[in-house]
Amino acid sequence: MIHEILPVGALQCNCSILGDEVSHEAIVVDPGAEIERITAVLERHHLTVQQILVTHAHIDHIAGAAKLKALTGAPVLYNPNDLPLVKMMDLQAAWLGMQTPEVHPPDDTLEEGRVIAVTGLIGQILHTPGHTQGSVCLHIPEQNLLFAGDTLFAGSVGRTDLPGGDGPTLIRSIHSKLLTLPEDTIVVPGHGPNTTIAEEKESNPFLQ
Ligand SMILES: [Zn+2]
Repeated sequence: MIHEILPVGALQCNCSILGDEVSHEAIVVDPGAEIERITAVLERHHLTVQQILVTHAHIDHIAGAAKLKALTGAPVLYNPNDLPLVKMMDLQAAWLGMQTPEVHPPDDTLEEGRVIAVTGLIGQILHTPGHTQGSVCLHIPEQNLLFAGDTLFAGSVGRTDLPGGDGPTLIRSIHSKLLTLPEDTIVVPGHGPNTTIAEEKESNPFLQ
């Protein structure tokens, strides 16, 4: 499997490009910004994007999705519980002093248990509300990978002080949906370095 992580934009959102070497089908997770860098990686590996997945509708994760869709024709998928955040995109942009990006309702939705399948890659969506109401993670069991969005970080958890955030819900989501995954699962968070479920179980101060 091809897997490249590109930290993009002012907040260095981890955009992941996952592709199959044989079929050249790919998914892109959280194309927050710098779409030219993302398409350069796609071209270098001769990948065709089948789906654009957005872990949650914060501007740093979703802002480039419509542009990537326009360039590739791939649908944009996210959880509709984050639609209130999409309606607040002007405000989100103002917080960061950015121009308001073009953002649309999802072409298809990421619900709990939804299977994400492109040739050579099969993943499952876990709905993990707390950081936002529509936050989701993508688990790819065969590759031992979890794309955690802003739900879980190395040594930290997502902030819950923004609209739609809720602390107890976040901790419940992490304990019930993430810490129950195999301990050697590699966690790719929405920002910062990778970690593992075992490491976060043992030493994350927010989860003790
Ligand atoms: Zn976020």
